[in-house]
Amino acid sequence: MSRHHPDPGLLGEMLKVAAAPDYARWEDQIRRTGGCSDPIHITGWTVAKDKTSGEVLHRYSTGHEPGARLRIACGNRRASRCPACAWTYSGDTYHLIRAGLAGDDRRAIPATVREHPRVFATLTAPSFGPVHNRPTGRACRCGQHHQEGASELGTALDPATYDYAAAVLFNNHAGQLWQRFTTRLRREIAASAGLTQRELIEVARISYGKVAEFQKRGAIHFHAVIRIDGPVGPDTSPPAWATTELLDASIRAAMVHAYTSVRVPAAGDHPARALRWGTQLDVRPIKAFGDGSDVTEQAVASYVAKYATKAAETTGATDTPVHCRKCRGAGLSTRYPHPGSTLSCCTRCRGTGLGEDLAQLAIPEHARRLMTACATLQPLYPDRMLARWAHMLGFRGHFSTKSRQYSTTLGALRQTRADYRAAQEREARGLADAEPDTVLVLASWQYAGHGHSPGESVLAATIAHGIQLNRQTAREALQGEQHE
Ligand SMILES: [Zn+2]
Ligand SMILES: [Zn+2]
Ligand SMILES: [Zn+2]
Repeated sequence: MSRHHPDPGLLGEMLKVAAAPDYARWEDQIRRTGGCSDPIHITGWTVAKDKTSGEVLHRYSTGHEPGARLRIACGNRRASRCPACAWTYSGDTYHLIRAGLAGDDRRAIPATVREHPRVFATLTAPSFGPVHNRPTGRACRCGQHHQEGASELGTALDPATYDYAAAVLFNNHAGQLWQRFTTRLRREIAASAGLTQRELIEVARISYGKVAEFQKRGAIHFHAVIRIDGPVGPDTSPPAWATTELLDASIRAAMVHAYTSVRVPAAGDHPARALRWGTQLDVRPIKAFGDGSDVTEQAVASYVAKYATKAAETTGATDTPVHCRKCRGAGLSTRYPHPGSTLSCCTRCRGTGLGEDLAQLAIPEHARRLMTACATLQPLYPDRMLARWAHMLGFRGHFSTKSRQYSTTLGALRQTRADYRAAQEREARGLADAEPDTVLVLASWQYAGHGHSPGESVLAATIAHGIQLNRQTAREALQGEQHE
């Protein structure tokens, strides 16, 4: 987090906020959002009544809150949009991946998953043309030694020949490629075990927790924890034949199998393509404790959490959509044309599907070319919604996903947190003993805006910073414990 040097006007505004009679209550609200930088404001009321007696147990209205509103966290997972909420999301992802690796007694993933065969695999995109890089001990192909973090890293050596179209089509189909990979993987595992697919389901389940990450060149790649469980998931032991070696070999076989590819038909002057994963596959067994050669549970969970909050911003692309809101990026006047009707262009974007002029955006040239490729391909592959996802360089999938059996869900973690807060709230109001289903809750809430004033914004950032320091300390203490 950067140091703030507020100008005198801002300082005055901060002091005004901090000196307000309801500052303590405002600070409490912001603390509850985790220091959210763009909280949602709501107004309204809630009444809790005893169902049988009708007695009012609790009454709350935002009328007594600062500015007569309640501020709640925006929940944005992008660090560029809200560092505080992204940090919460990253922490949740960490717990989610870790639970799937080491078990979690509070959330019913048994610690015996540690004995299941599991690996950390990285699936990358193929090459779309040479890019500037920093090979160890050598110069880049352009003849220069680039500095670490230099802006030209990951950009095309020759923009005239770099296949920007293939790059965004790969990102756009990455979800399907993953699907094909997992389907093929089950077949490979079954074949190695000498079983049919149906027999495999009777004895073992394959589960995944994965995150997507953009490489500097703007290509999506996946980091995945892949685990073999018993027939009913993490609670059951995998069969004796299920070894880490078998899992490793099956992943490698599935990656190169012809089935693990997606065909994109020819359109306009673009050729038909068969999209495949790149040849750089990294598969590492996960051990509970590091012995040097393998990755540890802790390292995997931290690694995955780190990438969970990064979107295409790492490549310099915009962090908000750039498509035309009227036609939702389709470029057409109607979203559901009747058969036989003539399609006409959207009147707002004139058929480009864009809501912004890409040439005018202050973004690096490489990102601009990738986003432009999305717009160019939009009319050729309308069902791929490339203009809609241009700010993600064509990628339309979720950043962290997991199979149902892998571990707890982000939703469950949010629920746990919400339950905890609700319990705290009830306790604070002397309702702790009330049986939940004998209480009738009536409520009415309205959206009343979002954000902070400049002075509030600085104070919220300070609160977020404090919370983060505390949580970081707690997380490190937990990690220390596990290394003992
Ligand atoms: Zn937020
Ligand atoms: Zn270079
Ligand atoms: Zn439009």
